Order: sequence, then structure tokens, then C-alpha cells
Amino acid sequence: MITLFKVAMNENAGKSVSDVLQSGFIGQGPRVEEFEQALRDRLGHPHLVTVNSATSGLHLALHMAAKTRPTPADATAEVLTTPLTCTATNWPILANGLRIRWVDIDPTTLNIDIDDLARKISPRTRAIMVVHWAGYPVDLDRLADVLEEAEQRLGFRPAVIEDCAHAWGATFQGLPLGRHGNIAVYSFQAIKHLTSGDGGLVVFPDQQSADRARLLRWFGIDRTRSDSFRCAEDIPEYGFKFHMNDINAAIGLANLGDVDGHVARHRENAAYFDTHLQGVPGVTLLDRKPDRESAAWLYTLLAERRSDFIARLAARNIAASPVHQRNDVHGCVSEYGASLPMLDSVADRIVSIPCGWWVTNAEREHIVDVIREGW
Ligand SMILES: *Cc1c(COP(=O)(O)O)cnc(C)c1O
Repeated sequence: MITLFKVAMNENAGKSVSDVLQSGFIGQGPRVEEFEQALRDRLGHPHLVTVNSATSGLHLALHMAAKTRPTPADATAEVLTTPLTCTATNWPILANGLRIRWVDIDPTTLNIDIDDLARKISPRTRAIMVVHWAGYPVDLDRLADVLEEAEQRLGFRPAVIEDCAHAWGATFQGLPLGRHGNIAVYSFQAIKHLTSGDGGLVVFPDQQSADRARLLRWFGIDRTRSDSFRCAEDIPEYGFKFHMNDINAAIGLANLGDVDGHVARHRENAAYFDTHLQGVPGVTLLDRKPDRESAAWLYTLLAERRSDFIARLAARNIAASPVHQRNDVHGCVSEYGASLPMLDSVADRIVSIPCGWWVTNAEREHIVDVIREGW
């Protein structure tokens, strides 16, 4: 079977982990510091903190963004978000006691629809979540314009949280995601481009927020203070247990050297599909613009009669899947029902095919042949 996902684990990761395990210190220590420094170098940006998952990172980011601005009664505070994503994007909104307001998607990219977003920004808006679907960047330029407009109209600028879980290696106008003035959250979960086993990264626009997050990821305690382990320090703001440990950091560091090569291969395979699936009956390809580079974590297309498509590919040893189910259909969010005509128009055609670093030239040709034969 040509799989949709594969864990990218460097062969030295075991040795690195073993060194940590035998070192007598396996919590958050020197390896976490080293991993964070390496990530700063990669992103070209100093203000970031690692956490134990992107879900924790999104929770923390929302917690921080929702508390920075006084708003009308908390019961009405809402977060504008996309329904087409992993539940990890949206359940932290509920966990923070905030309301969800669904925004439709752009059917040509599967990213959030910026026009619908602009229409829905209101005095109740606490934050905006966007997801770079498959690693293809949201139009952050237009998003910045919409925020500017909202600020003039409403007198405040809602915080934007970019879910970059699919998007390690993506760039918008030449810069890595996380450098466009918003909070950005990456995932180092098992099957993401860069894995630390489990882990996440929160990138902030400013030093002050990163410093606050560094406290809040570990109960609100400053680990750099000599009295922090003797519990002698006051905790002015409560925090969480969201920190990364040295075991996970060692895995992340071991894999960091491979990730550029892997992302490049994902992109090559995606470019191959862009060319060779063009015009195939029953298939609609997504839009690609030259001002941004996708991380191509997934290769998503729209296929007519999706279940037949998936069954045909499976019969020819090719995995295919919608990957994420639209989030607005679940019982736990039934009170937030919204009309989402664009999502409705594509939801039952969304499917991803294997494009990863493990897909060989012969395999991608096989995938194209099978799809061209029809289903
Ligand atoms: C994987 C994923 C997450 C969650 O990441 P974890 O590190 O597993 O918490 C969040 N959002 C999206 C879009 C994802 O694909």
C-alpha cells in the first residue's frame, strides 16, 4: 500500500533519546533550550516557545489572546474559525469557555474564506483561527487588510492564531509562517513534517508574549529562578502543564536535519500531480499562487463520487482519505450551526492522495495512471 502518512524518524533519534534517558534529567532542560534555539534559527525569528502538542499551543494561544483585551460580557465572546480542520483547532475554543462562530471556506484552496471572515468580525470577536490547509498558506496579506479595516471600524484588532500544523516549511511572500505579525502554532506530532514524537511550537509577534507564554506553559512559574523548585516564588498568573521535555526535544533535534529534504520531495510530488492530473475528468485541483510556497504535507483534490474514488485507489494499493472531517457536524458544537454553502459545495469531494517523501517516481506515476483510468 502506498500510504498517506509515514513517520519521518532519523536513525540517530534512538541514541539521542537514550542519552537523555541516562542523563539523570528527562524533564524540560538543556535539550529543550537547544531545540528552541534551532527553531529560532530555522524560522529566523526569536519569539517562540515549545509546548507538548499543538493542541496545547492552540489552547495557550487562545487563553492569552482572549485575556489581553477587555470585551463585553464573556458569555458572548466568540472566536471566528474554519470548520474544515482537525478537531484540535477548534476544541480549545470550547475548552477556553469561548463560543465558536464558523466561517465558510474558499472552495478553491480549502482555506478560510476571507470575505466571509470580514463580514463576521464584530465587537464579540475575541480571536480568529486560520488553518493553512495541506500546508498551503492563507492569504495573510488580505487578512492583514481585513484586520486593519476591523480596527478602524471597531476600535480593536482581534488576535489572529494561525494553525500551522500542516505547514512546516511553507512560506508566504518569502517568509516562513509565524513571521507575519500573528500568533502561529506548529505541530511536531508523529506524522507531521517534523516530529518530536509529540510536541508543538507557538511563535509570537513580540518578546513580551513569548515571555508570558514561557511562564504559562509551566504553571506560571519562572523555571530560570533559583527558588522556583523550592516553591518559594509567588505565582501572579496561573498557567498550565504544557511544556516540552528533553526526551521529545531530543527526537525533534534528531529529525531537524532531514525535514528540508522531506518537504522538498513532498513539493516535487505535488508539482507532478499538479501537472499530470490537470484536466482529468471528475477531478478538480486546488488553486496555487506564486506568492506563497506550500509545505505540501497533503495533496488534496476534489473527486466526484469520492467513496468510489477511494475504493478504486485502495484496490490498486493506494491510500486516499478526506483526512479531516468538517468539525461543525459534531454534537458538541450543535449550538453553533451556521450556513456554510461553500463548504457544503465541496465537502463530499475532498480527498487527499499520497505525496510524501516516501512516494517514488514509479509510485506517483502509478497513482496518476490509476486516477486517469477513472473510477
Ligand atoms: C495535527 C494537527 C493539530 C494538532 O496537533 P497536535 O500536535 O497533535 O496537538 C492541530 N491542527 C491541525 C490542522 C492538525 O493537523
